[in-house]
Amino acid sequence: MELNKKSVDDINVKGKRVLCRCDFNVPLKDGKITDENRLVAALPTIKKLIADGGKVILCSHLGKVKTEEDKKTKTLAPVAKRLSELLGQEVKFAADPEVVGPNAKAAVAAMKDGDVVLLENTRFRPEETKNGEAFSKDLASLADVFVNDAFGTAHRSHCSNVGVAEELRKEGKPAVVGYLMQKEIDYLGKAVEDPVRPFVAILGGAKVADKLNVISNLLEKCDTLIIGGGMAYTFIKAQGYSVGKSLCDDSKIDYCKEMMEKAKKLGKKLLLPVDAVIVDDFPDPIDGDVDTEVVDVTAIPDGKEACDIGPKTAEMFANEVASAKTVVWNGPMGVFENPTLAAGTLKVAQALADSDATTIIGGGDSAAAVNQMGLGSKMSHISTGGGASLEFLEGKELPGIAAADEK
Ligand code: AMP
Repeated sequence: MELNKKSVDDINVKGKRVLCRCDFNVPLKDGKITDENRLVAALPTIKKLIADGGKVILCSHLGKVKTEEDKKTKTLAPVAKRLSELLGQEVKFAADPEVVGPNAKAAVAAMKDGDVVLLENTRFRPEETKNGEAFSKDLASLADVFVNDAFGTAHRSHCSNVGVAEELRKEGKPAVVGYLMQKEIDYLGKAVEDPVRPFVAILGGAKVADKLNVISNLLEKCDTLIIGGGMAYTFIKAQGYSVGKSLCDDSKIDYCKEMMEKAKKLGKKLLLPVDAVIVDDFPDPIDGDVDTEVVDVTAIPDGKEACDIGPKTAEMFANEVASAKTVVWNGPMGVFENPTLAAGTLKVAQALADSDATTIIGGGDSAAAVNQMGLGSKMSHISTGGGASLEFLEGKELPGIAAADEK
């Protein structure tokens, strides 16, 4: 993928209508924002566009919109209010159910340089997630320039990140990336294309089928691939051991065998757990009390479930991280939501925190784990997109990035 994209530093937005796709997909409870990290993260690009005298039109999706009822609870109105406070200037909310309607058009027509307008949740339009032409054209009609700063949706081809850029390109108008997107491209792109070695990649978590596909590409790029979490037990079974009730995707056993062969052929280290923390039943509630036992992965009894890597494995993984110069981590090593099953994830997180390597956390649950452990600030980069960062690591072209102009 061509990653040398034009950014907000490469264009002149003075007096222009700038449509900026942000990721304002924040958690809401009773209409109140419960975590505003995504708003804070969007500020640098927005402030830059204001300072440069653009007419800044913000847009984003918020959750999934399936019913009319969703339209009441998934409005971006609370985001406009909070953004106004964070920016110290009014963010005018254009409350159109069709997103680009009379309110939006009037608000944009009345804008002065440096003003900010926020459009309604882009998913109020059913065409949004289908990259339908009508909504892409509506969005493009509001803009002279498009800025995409929403990495979390970059792996999707939607109107507000891809269709609108294509419409504007037809008119010779620029589509560039914002600072957040640029940072993702810089960190993930460098890790995949030109890492400082040794490059250690760590995969864990529960979405076995999703992540197995990343393995093939990562094996070609990294020096060591570490597999922990629920991912590991399909491999353990592929080695001929039984895994009890542990997570396992039987349809991928042959694939795991192929990957172990591939690692051997390429001369890459593939590290799998040697011991595991087992329980009788998956904890319910997830943070409820559990009795645990540590066993070798070659001796997981029938009826038991491996829910964390064992201490020998944690030590081995941490040692590998200690000698790395680039580390990419996606997915926890165990059921970290439960304090009794979090030790493996904590040990690996601490190893990354203590390392002087470039450390990249691939979003989603690993980001939550690192933040929960208070180690977020010790990482070089925490990706804002779980799914997007995985597809990036798979070597796929992300449509949201591809749609931006090249330098
Ligand atoms: P993912 O979204 O694929 O990164 O998966 C994250 C989830 O994986 C977390 O909620 C963990 O509790 C879960 N997880 C990690 N290791 C295991 C395991 N060995 N068995 C079951 N679930 C796990």
